[in-house]
Amino acid sequence: MTNNNSNPYFLSKESLGIDLERAFPALEKSMTADIAVIGGGITGVLISYFLAEAGIRTILLEGRMIGDAATGRNTGFILTGTVEHYSRAKALLGAEKAKRLWQITEDNHRIISEIISNEKLKCEYRKNGSLILGISAQEGTELKATYADLIADGFSADYLDEAACTEHLHCDQFTGAVRMQKDGEIHPVKFVQQLAGILAKKGIPIFEHTLVENFSSDETSDAVLIETDRGTVSCAMAILATNAYTAKLQPRLKDKIVPVQGQAFVTEPLDEMIFEEVIYANFGYEYWRQLQNGRFLVGGFRENSGNSVDNESESGNPELIKGLFEYFTSLFPQAKSAQISHAWAGTMGFSQDGIPLLGAVPGSPNVFVCGGYTGHGLGFAGSLGKMAAEMMIDGTSQNSDLFYSQRFAA
Ligand SMILES: Cc1cc2nc3c(=O)[nH]c(=O)nc-3n(C[C@H](O)[C@H](O)[C@H](O)COP(=O)(O)OP(=O)(O)OC[C@H]3O[C@@H](n4cnc5c(N)ncnc54)[C@H](O)[C@@H]3O)c2cc1C
Repeated sequence: MTNNNSNPYFLSKESLGIDLERAFPALEKSMTADIAVIGGGITGVLISYFLAEAGIRTILLEGRMIGDAATGRNTGFILTGTVEHYSRAKALLGAEKAKRLWQITEDNHRIISEIISNEKLKCEYRKNGSLILGISAQEGTELKATYADLIADGFSADYLDEAACTEHLHCDQFTGAVRMQKDGEIHPVKFVQQLAGILAKKGIPIFEHTLVENFSSDETSDAVLIETDRGTVSCAMAILATNAYTAKLQPRLKDKIVPVQGQAFVTEPLDEMIFEEVIYANFGYEYWRQLQNGRFLVGGFRENSGNSVDNESESGNPELIKGLFEYFTSLFPQAKSAQISHAWAGTMGFSQDGIPLLGAVPGSPNVFVCGGYTGHGLGFAGSLGKMAAEMMIDGTSQNSDLFYSQRFAA
């Protein structure tokens, strides 16, 4: 085990090749913009990108550093779908809604890969597919149904039965799997840092270490005044890309986007390559992949956190990290010799139905929110960033009804 339990691999020198330092200045004077984006994780950076593409005078305000929060602390999977397996999502949400959501996440991957290609980002992107693994008889049954539903609805997937899982993973603990060929992985910090650098070169002002403390805007205002700890920003519209931290700025969203802590660790490299795909197991509670340098990256265990956990703490919980390591190496004993080199936690924003929120915040038609991905921000932020920009510019975007921001009771 590492002694430092807040040492996120993707933010580290070992992973980036450099010490991550402030890349952008702090706000030093009051400014104006057409649209202010608050939060510089993957959501805020992508929204800024689409607004800039449309020629909107945009400003990006980040309280810490670009990619420093959940975006720098995740496992980098770009997955199709929501937190639920497809067959369960169809039962919970209805067939038509589930199919549209899955399509939007497929589009999301295409949008992200086009940005990587067009902007020549070097972010360790691979379209290596995902394996959704069952670990109980119940999950095995659901995955069989999920596969059938995916194929019937025109999505690409393969099914692996127990024997095929054993052969593929050299582990006989799995009850079946669905392989999604179109899924993949990125280095999330390289992605957002490089994209933010491109935006800055295009003249988009980006401010780090600039904490938004308040905004004023109501039903009657046609402008938004943003107060930061460094100065004010006057703009026509603003968007909260603050995910787990949204309720601090808009308390009416307190139980609509709820902070939930997830643990993760990375090991020293192992010569043997065990996994090709990114792996999402136990209904998404545990997930892992092997980086191209041989290190294992493993996350999850939120189901074991208990009620006393501080969901906003970014220090990995030593007990949970130990439990996660033991869980992983009980499945793959070959990994036992690999020491943990980095361990950390991150804070995700969960919504009540597992579907993100996008649209105006209650009582402030000129202030939007985009977040609540329920652990799937890389699977949605491309599509939703594009939709957010369209909604703020044109007042509408196809499929925005799925994410209606005021769908939960007050
Ligand atoms: C262990 C773990 C593993 C995960 N694995 C995956 C995965 O493999 N695939 C996947 O799709 N998702 C994964 N996730 C979830 C994913 O990380 C998030 O959904 C995603 O990063 C959300 O991005 P975001 O930009 O909305 O939020 P964040 O990255 O949290 O960004 C929000 C930003 O807003 C800033 N901010 C907040 N308040 C203010 C303020 N008042 N003023 C200024 N700035 C402010 C914060 O500093 C922060 O930088 C994982 C999460 C964790 C914790």
